[in-house]
Amino acid sequence: MKDTCNLCDSREFELLKSELRDEKTGFKVFRCRNCNHVQLLPRPAEGEDREFYNKNMQDKNRQKEIDYEKLRINNKCDTARRVKLIKELFQNNTCSILDVGSGYGFFVNELYNSGYKNVTGIEISDERRNIANNHSSVQIMNFDVNNPDRNIGRFDVVTVFHVLEHISDPIMFLAKIRNFVNSGGTLICEVPNLREALLDSCEEYNNFYWIRAHVNYFSRETLLDCLKKARYENVETRFEQRYGLINLCSWLTTGKPQIETPVFDICDAYKPVEDFYRNYVKSNGRSDTLIAIARL
Ligand SMILES: [Zn+2]
Repeated sequence: MKDTCNLCDSREFELLKSELRDEKTGFKVFRCRNCNHVQLLPRPAEGEDREFYNKNMQDKNRQKEIDYEKLRINNKCDTARRVKLIKELFQNNTCSILDVGSGYGFFVNELYNSGYKNVTGIEISDERRNIANNHSSVQIMNFDVNNPDRNIGRFDVVTVFHVLEHISDPIMFLAKIRNFVNSGGTLICEVPNLREALLDSCEEYNNFYWIRAHVNYFSRETLLDCLKKARYENVETRFEQRYGLINLCSWLTTGKPQIETPVFDICDAYKPVEDFYRNYVKSNGRSDTLIAIARL
């Protein structure tokens, strides 16, 4: 079990990266020779995943104190983009929405403030959920998709933003989530894009990219494969770009991200250049983010 592909159960792999950014021993990154899926090995057990998130390890590996306001500002562009997508796809704001892995609740809160009042969030990390519930109008519940302890019903829209890359059995996870989607409903799934151009053009970025928290690294093809195996038949994909031109320039010139003073957009004078850059990487499938929209 521990050394099999997360998507096809094959045991034939090639090594892709021998060291993670934040954990130098214990895990390596491999590509499955059968289905091309890229993942960490050995495969963490499901219980290990839960322990990792319940202790909020992901942020603690990054920084010591949780600064809610700083996180909110850093997430502002993602939050606005995701709310815009919901508004584009679902004009009826009475639709019921479940957000899986709500984290600090930025997205559900912004949706609520935009008029979508039928919003529910679930989050397994006690610490994140407590922080979210102290700041948010939307109640975020303690509910583990992998170990459901009650029936939470079905929803018109289920969003899963940057969760699937963390899950050691993504097919089973998506199959369980399918039970929460109404007939005629929609699943929206966002993950980092393995085909991101910067991975090939900046060695420092490549060394920074692979982390213990991400057990899966999806391309458009492997994400579609994963959804298909979880019985989602009608799937559309889109490419998105989270980070802007200034972040790209920072990596290419200094070998470092824009983390201290995050800038996600360029000043107005150069806006057309930013738009061109984003549209360029989106149109050739080399952007940093991948979205799947599955209709049931
Ligand atoms: Zn495979």
